[in-house]
Amino acid sequence: MRAVIYRAFGERPQLELVPDPVPPSHGVVLRLGASGVCRSDWHGWMGHDPDIRLPHVPGHELAGEVVAAGPEVRRFRPGDRVTVPFACGCGTCPECRAGHPQVCDDQFQPGFTAWGSFAELVAIARADLNLVPLPADLDFVTAASLGCRFATSFRALAQQAGLGAGEWLAVHGCGGVGLSAVMIGRALGASVAAVDVDDQKLLLAGELGASVLVHAGRTGDVAAALREQTGGGAHVSLDALGHPATCFASVACLRKRGRHLQVGLLLAEESHPPLPMDLVVGRELRVLGSHGMAAHAYPELLRMVARGQLLPGRLVRRRIALPEAPEALAAMGAFAGTGITVIDRF
Ligand SMILES: [Zn+2]
Ligand SMILES: [Zn+2]
Repeated sequence: MRAVIYRAFGERPQLELVPDPVPPSHGVVLRLGASGVCRSDWHGWMGHDPDIRLPHVPGHELAGEVVAAGPEVRRFRPGDRVTVPFACGCGTCPECRAGHPQVCDDQFQPGFTAWGSFAELVAIARADLNLVPLPADLDFVTAASLGCRFATSFRALAQQAGLGAGEWLAVHGCGGVGLSAVMIGRALGASVAAVDVDDQKLLLAGELGASVLVHAGRTGDVAAALREQTGGGAHVSLDALGHPATCFASVACLRKRGRHLQVGLLLAEESHPPLPMDLVVGRELRVLGSHGMAAHAYPELLRMVARGQLLPGRLVRRRIALPEAPEALAAMGAFAGTGITVIDRF
């Protein structure tokens, strides 16, 4: 098969012919229909993820068709159209048995712990637990655009924070996660304040329903501006970027008893940022993490997509072919462009 592969961290990936994957006894092989290009892929390529073994094929925001299944797979067979969470479970550890495979002790993550979806084919482990069947009218590009970003935003807001109608949501960083959160927040009935340093991204956040737009580069105290413009602070605030400054501002912009959500990855030397714990105590704030979404939690999200309440496809700004993936991956380091780039030709 053709795959985009790198043999050293930070070295330009190449399109090469590599052996086809074979399904494990409990897994499947998918023929890719679409694969998102995500900043997490860029972090992996930069060597920030200790799970990656070289040489490596990135890509974890995928949708495709089953072309081969191992003998132990019961629920899926060739021809089924599916997507998959970026954090897949093992099915046997205490977290998986409790229904939380997104924090499995022995995770399978395509594009990180195994070769991913910047290829014609990808193998997925423990298919019965981890594959999500796609409704017939959901195309591969839209399904892949749920990726880690839309699905993680959905679970963070709807399920972890319990964002409700009439509340204020602050979104720090308007990349894929942040723009997803703007759309999801509006669909859940919240008012949304969006923060970024890029006018184009703020414009798009406004188009998707954010009613307050804060340019962080032209605002001295982002948290104070948000507290003022939301009438006392956000009920829920999301650090979609994953940076010490946005993380701090997200906690500091909350009103009393507000909920901070950390979804943006804080990696390498930024993994332990300073936080205003005085505010966490004094305002009785809650600090929540969200790490993907289990396969069994997808139906609620897919129902909202089917009803047209959520239009994740609107975030797709660029469709590319597999040979263009190395360049798109490299571009993720510069926060260039708005919305999501999806590979739809392999
Ligand atoms: Zn597990
Ligand atoms: Zn991703």
